[in-house]
Amino acid sequence: MLKPCLCGHNKPFAKCCGRFLTEGKLAKTPEQLMRSRYSAYALGGYGDYLLATWFSATAGELTAAALSEKSVDWQGLEVLSSEQHGDKATVEFKAHYLEIDSLEIDSLETDNQEPNNQESSSLEADNSQLQTLHEISVFQRSAGRWLYVGGEVSSNLNR
Ligand SMILES: [Zn+2]
Repeated sequence: MLKPCLCGHNKPFAKCCGRFLTEGKLAKTPEQLMRSRYSAYALGGYGDYLLATWFSATAGELTAAALSEKSVDWQGLEVLSSEQHGDKATVEFKAHYLEIDSLEIDSLETDNQEPNNQESSSLEADNSQLQTLHEISVFQRSAGRWLYVGGEVSSNLNR
């Protein structure tokens, strides 16, 4: 049975974010790029992709090695809205994660298993540790490629 993509789309990874992460295809929309970058973070090990899709002027001193590290355990993504005006775009999303340090039962959630995609039920089941990143990401199209410019985190709007 096919598992849905990490980004929450009900498509297999290979036909969703996998096309961009592993086949070098270019995301056609800012939302596709945003979703694929989320999947890259969730999987870990895709620092090269994250750096390649980062607007160079704002990527600063980020390195692929640092971006490949999983800093938190991503649990699910909700895209709230996306807007495009010519070569600029914004995507508003909420991404849910667990702090890796606070994971004490990770032996029960075998590392390579797909995350639980029943987002709402898992949210309710364990919201003591679940954190939410609410961000409006800014994207810019440059030479036909969408790139991540930066994000505005709405820490007051969580949940
Ligand atoms: Zn996806």
